[in-house]
Amino acid sequence: MEETKIYLSEKDIPKQWYNLAADLPTPLQPPLGPDGKPISPNMLEAVFPANLIEQEVSTKRWIDIPKEVIEILYRWRPSPLRRARYLEQYLKTPARIYYKDESLSPPGSHKPNTAVPQAWYNKQFGIKKLTTETGAGQWGSALAFATNLMGLECKVFMVRISFDQKPLRKIMMKLWGATCVASPSSETKAGRDILAKTPDTPGSLGIAIAEAVEEAVLDKSGKTRYSLGSVLNHVLLHQTIIGLEAKKQLAKVGEKKVDVIIGCAGGGSNFAGLSFPFVCDKIHGKKIEIYPVEPTGCPTMTRGPFTYDFGDVACQTPLLAMHTLGHGFVPAPIHAGGLRYHGMAPLVSQAIVEGLLTPRAYNQIKCYESAVLWARTEGSVCAPETSHAIACVIEEALKAKKEGKKKVILFNYSGHGIMDLGGYDKYLSGQLQDYSMSEQELKESLESIKNLPKAPVKKTGKW
Ligand SMILES: *Cc1c(COP(=O)(O)O)cnc(C)c1O
Repeated sequence: MEETKIYLSEKDIPKQWYNLAADLPTPLQPPLGPDGKPISPNMLEAVFPANLIEQEVSTKRWIDIPKEVIEILYRWRPSPLRRARYLEQYLKTPARIYYKDESLSPPGSHKPNTAVPQAWYNKQFGIKKLTTETGAGQWGSALAFATNLMGLECKVFMVRISFDQKPLRKIMMKLWGATCVASPSSETKAGRDILAKTPDTPGSLGIAIAEAVEEAVLDKSGKTRYSLGSVLNHVLLHQTIIGLEAKKQLAKVGEKKVDVIIGCAGGGSNFAGLSFPFVCDKIHGKKIEIYPVEPTGCPTMTRGPFTYDFGDVACQTPLLAMHTLGHGFVPAPIHAGGLRYHGMAPLVSQAIVEGLLTPRAYNQIKCYESAVLWARTEGSVCAPETSHAIACVIEEALKAKKEGKKKVILFNYSGHGIMDLGGYDKYLSGQLQDYSMSEQELKESLESIKNLPKAPVKKTGKW
């Protein structure tokens, strides 16, 4: 009997995270300071605690997960691996579709996989308060959940458009004891500057990051740090528990090979979490197609150049070598708030440059169509971000059908959409529109990085 839900026993939970930096065929390019010179790790100490900076720059392949962190993760981990049997039947595909269900965490997405260790390491370092930004509210609620368990204070700057579109997430943050304000806010200089120029801005993750970093570094007590929900190496590291569990679960049902891996990518963390342990296999000779998926309204990987850019609009972060649309880019108000970020994780970007990953972009209407088909076959209501992965899964399953191949497709079900029904309502009543960035918009947006250092494109040429 083929299994529909594949559970992993708690004793088999991975005890170490996997670090792709150890295996990348061409090493990451170093972050640069404002003077264009590589920064030293201690320059980050006003923003992050030293123990997380150590992880950020580590090239050790395996990093131990602290026991206390695992104890907290047991609330929902190991997450089930599911077989999308009902979608397979509907599509009449010979492909076997599996997905990691990250929607079962208390905040409803993969994000607490890193919020919990980040809060733990900050607490170990004597930090009392964390500041952060949030798009759709998923990260803010995940950090609120984690800081509450750790007894830390938490202040969240939430992108204006989501603050208005997704009021329910604000309530969750409050419920877990955090403070949440709309960004741009009048509480920081970065926010006030933007409001003076563009009072009606929908906001962006870049603006919210600028505000959260400013509040952390200006705290004179020295006990506040900033926490980022995606993009950085240590965040992607914490998410690899997803892919490591998936490997054990696939082995349990006798799957020896995965052909296709898919995840939606905003900053890249849930995609990396599922795929990096398999990227390691690909580096070591396995044949796997790996697709990070983004919206056409924010086409960072498919149309943005690989170059140095700031992570935030106020240019306070170090320069990172990544795919970017320019730090001044304010994406169209698409519903997948978590995918509205101008940059892409340096680790994901370098793997794209190397040819290990093949990015794709989809329009939001196609994504909602896919999400509705998913809800009417599999049953669950996915997050608008997750629908991008599902659109790609459906395409790949139909391709396998055309080719008559029994491919194994694995994707990450990054979160549920129970709090995002407003977007579904618009789609179902025909009010949604597609967004594609025009060449002109792209050109204008890239003006903001014209004078920044260029990142050399380095690859081995093997893929
Ligand atoms: C935040 C979020 C994303 C995008 O962030 P990544 O860092 O790219 O994973 C995707 N799906 C859901 C459900 C999210 O909450």
